[in-house]
Amino acid sequence: MDKQVIGILGGGQLGRMFIEAAGRMNVEVRVLDPTALSPAKQISNSDKHIDEPFTSSEAIKKLADGCDVLTVEIEHVNCDELAKIESLGLAQVRPSSSTVRLIQDKYLQKVYLAEQSLALPEFVGCDSLDEVVAAGEKFGYPFVLKCRLGAYDGRGNYVVKSKDDAASGFKTLGEKMLYAEKFVPFTKELAVMVVRRPSGQVATYPVVETIQRDNICELVYAPAQIDGDIRQIAMKVATDTVSCLPSGSAGIFGVEMFLHEDGRTVLVNEIAPRPHNSGHYTIEACHTSQFENHLRAVLDLPLGSTELKVPNAAMINVLGGQNGMQSVLDPCLASLEVPGATVHLYGKAGAKPARKMGHVTVVADSALQLRRRTDLIVGKLSNASD
Ligand code: ATP
Ligand code: MG
Ligand code: MG
Repeated sequence: MDKQVIGILGGGQLGRMFIEAAGRMNVEVRVLDPTALSPAKQISNSDKHIDEPFTSSEAIKKLADGCDVLTVEIEHVNCDELAKIESLGLAQVRPSSSTVRLIQDKYLQKVYLAEQSLALPEFVGCDSLDEVVAAGEKFGYPFVLKCRLGAYDGRGNYVVKSKDDAASGFKTLGEKMLYAEKFVPFTKELAVMVVRRPSGQVATYPVVETIQRDNICELVYAPAQIDGDIRQIAMKVATDTVSCLPSGSAGIFGVEMFLHEDGRTVLVNEIAPRPHNSGHYTIEACHTSQFENHLRAVLDLPLGSTELKVPNAAMINVLGGQNGMQSVLDPCLASLEVPGATVHLYGKAGAKPARKMGHVTVVADSALQLRRRTDLIVGKLSNASD
């Protein structure tokens, strides 16, 4: 396996943690990212990294030359070029270009999952203001207007509160490539990482609870504190979601879900075709991290155990704040005095508000101990007192 070379499109924190896992197994990873000293490139000294956009055909072709496998740490990539590379047999593309294409357009993703009979919030495509208004009549208010492409951290979402608000939502989101979703009255957001080999074999990580603030993940609790029957349902929804993706697709996938306030319905929110923020806890808390299992899956190697090796874990995202780098360092310094805490800093230069700068994982022997330890760190987050 250490003879295979992997090229990764995108060089942020996910690529950085992927390289950490690959490095242990002596697998070479080449990064394509426009930023010269991106988080992933910083920790891997190589003259084979490419400082160009992961949307550029030429750059992707250059990356494929010399790599056995191409993978992604972001879904907003150039799928036409990846498809060409697949058809010419220049490199394996994992997950496949058709899977990334399907997932990068959140509307097509939903159409596909609905065709596979997965439970989703009701949705409808919106290409005009009239259609946005019609969605409000169909779903009631509030409902969520979303960008089909390029979305992350809720930046492509607008909650439409009334008929009068529809025009503002339509304009704010750029007036094209939109769809509308019924607002889900959820009690919790759940997530599950699922890893899949090219043969279709899958392994499923535990169900976690994710807590978002202003649409950005703030906290993850593993395992989620939910009833066993809900856990079984969420595991099955996540496993079915990843299993139904086009054949041959391999890698790790994050499945975000809503637990409806009826207490028994679990709906799919969206899939990420890559390592996911809700799976960072696996580095310290599971036998095999999401990053190592992604590596194993894209190299078509036996998968590692996805089980927790500690009773409880939490992941706290550290975002840039009003005080720049100080907002980032304060919770990290506090973590150094908390037993079971591990600090991850991504090496990003600009600590702009809401930018993901690092995270802290906390492991514990019980849910109570976890809560005590987590609270010590959460209290130091710059946004904690908002
Ligand atoms: P990510 O960074 O996870 O890719 P994103 O920009 O793709 O985020 P979504 O996951 O669609 O955005 O939505 C962000 C958050 O907004 C969700 O985690 C949830 O809290 C809320 N949300 C999204 N859709 C709905 C909905 N239909 N009903 C209620 N809340 C919603
Ligand atoms: Mg998303
Ligand atoms: Mg999301």
